[in-house]
Amino acid sequence: MTLLIGDKQIVSMHYTLTNDEGEILDSSDGQSPLSYLHGASNIIPGLEKELTGKTVGAKLKVTVHAEDGYGEFNPELLQQAPLSAFAGVEDLQVGMELMAHGDQGQQQMITVREINDDNVIIDTNHPLAGQTLHFDVEITDIRAATEQELSHGHVHPTGQDH
Ligand code: ZN
Repeated sequence: MTLLIGDKQIVSMHYTLTNDEGEILDSSDGQSPLSYLHGASNIIPGLEKELTGKTVGAKLKVTVHAEDGYGEFNPELLQQAPLSAFAGVEDLQVGMELMAHGDQGQQQMITVREINDDNVIIDTNHPLAGQTLHFDVEITDIRAATEQELSHGHVHPTGQDH
């Protein structure tokens, strides 16, 4: 029986992600394949949709536009913060990505866009917001998710609880 990728399955894949300019943004090269629970929004919708129905060994190229990826770039998510708030950051530079605490105490990735005399312009868009993403994917494994993985909504790489 050949397993086809569908809901409630754990899919493993090697992938390389490039942008429109062909720059590699992320890759599983030299690492374990990426595993995720299909149908649980673990990965961006544009990629998940294209993987549905594929089999182990399948190699595919998937182009995902921003609206099916990390969303459009939202200029309202550019904010000004006092320079003093970054006193603890060594060697603050434009383009730096930092983990910050949001208003509700949640962790949030921010990108430094501008450093001025007394303030810093930060960007809380996802670093890949607004970008067209090009995935080169090879499916390496498909298996049924365990009850526990289904109830948690994510993969347990070793099959164990955590
Ligand atoms: Zn879990």
